[in-house]
Amino acid sequence: MSTAYTETEERQALRQAVAKLASGYGREYFTKQARSGGKTTELWLEIGKHGYLGVNIPEEYGGGGGGIGDVAAVCEELAAKGCPLLMMVVSPAICGTVISRFGTVEQKQRWLPGIADGTRTMAFAITEPDAGTNSHNITTTARRDGEGWVLKGRKIYISGVDEAANVLVVARAEDARTGKLKPCLFVVPTDAEGFEFTPIPMEIVSPEQQFTVFIDDVRLPGDALVGDSANTDAGLVQLFAGLNPERIMAASFSTGLARYALDKATAYVKEREVFGAPIGTHQGLAHPLAQSKIEIELARLMTQKAAALYDAGDDLAAGEAANMAKYAAAEAACDAADRAVQAHGGNGITQEYGVAGLLVAARAGRIAPVSREMILNYVGMHSLGLPKSY
Ligand SMILES: Cc1cc2nc3c(=O)[nH]c(=O)nc-3n(C[C@H](O)[C@H](O)[C@H](O)COP(=O)(O)OP(=O)(O)OC[C@H]3O[C@@H](n4cnc5c(N)ncnc54)[C@H](O)[C@@H]3O)c2cc1C
Repeated sequence: MSTAYTETEERQALRQAVAKLASGYGREYFTKQARSGGKTTELWLEIGKHGYLGVNIPEEYGGGGGGIGDVAAVCEELAAKGCPLLMMVVSPAICGTVISRFGTVEQKQRWLPGIADGTRTMAFAITEPDAGTNSHNITTTARRDGEGWVLKGRKIYISGVDEAANVLVVARAEDARTGKLKPCLFVVPTDAEGFEFTPIPMEIVSPEQQFTVFIDDVRLPGDALVGDSANTDAGLVQLFAGLNPERIMAASFSTGLARYALDKATAYVKEREVFGAPIGTHQGLAHPLAQSKIEIELARLMTQKAAALYDAGDDLAAGEAANMAKYAAAEAACDAADRAVQAHGGNGITQEYGVAGLLVAARAGRIAPVSREMILNYVGMHSLGLPKSY
């Protein structure tokens, strides 16, 4: 029996199943892979095989036919066991949603099954060095070349390109009627001629890496453009459709990470004794952890609300809730990671205890995929009716 404030039994069972699977890997596996230059391919393919990765993809294309709330639950449970997978935000949630909603039948048949089972992961590339947060200023262009397209440009901080079969690239294409450049989405194979990528050394402890991508006159067939190949009008709508899933997933990534940090800290302060009693006895440590518990639960609740609104088809209300959830979750994760380090004392900085490594990953949640400031801009403008500030 479910009420408005609890998830369905099915969703709870999904969480338990994913948590069990992820426990078989755990933080040790994740950090070992990260520090040795390894990948999380076994874990990725296993969640794919069990149908968790593509739980939100339509059944006729190899998925589970569920919603964003389901795939967000999977992402959160993996992170809560110490395996935060950024590519879950990108491949099934952003790319899977955009293609499920706007791809032609042929495109869905071609791309969705591999996204669902993890064998053909799709990365997502919008960020550019000069445009940054202001994605209206991207300069990657797509020009028509007979029936096909030629893409040229540069992208930065693109996650998981080395593990992806394709990248969903946002480029500006010339409108046949007006001559104006409009954003369009193209699926580009990572082995296409002229498509190159180099890793960016990041401080995040994760097997998933970020890349600079060079797109040098990459030739693509006409149907690389998502949707109807004659229609370059749809790109903006497609792009916006990916935003709410992206935010809901990023929030779940953060709440999962926060739960992991809090679990570690709580277990530690129950055991560690310094003044003849467990250090969790002292309110100086207990209260910040209790605060984190409250902040995480609040962020989870808002994330579930955003997912429920999105899955019910209310994109507008989901937009506000998804932004708020993403903000609250990133803040909760940053504080939980910091408090977990503090609770561990010197051990909090060691690789052995693996807590300090959470700091940068949690911190990235305040920047990507949308920054804290842009969320505050959104809420100021849309929720409070303040003038646009950017
Ligand atoms: C770990 C990681 C993974 C990523 N993965 C991907 C990916 O897979 N695909 C992809 O396309 N991108 C990816 N990104 C890029 C990410 O989306 C961008 O870093 C993010 O959108 C911010 O852009 P920027 O880094 O250029 O910062 P900038 O735009 O240079 O902004 C710098 C700072 O200024 C603030 N700022 C800018 N404008 C305003 C304003 N008007 N008002 C207030 N503050 C403002 C920003 O909030 C930020 O704090 C990733 C980034 C990271 C860190």
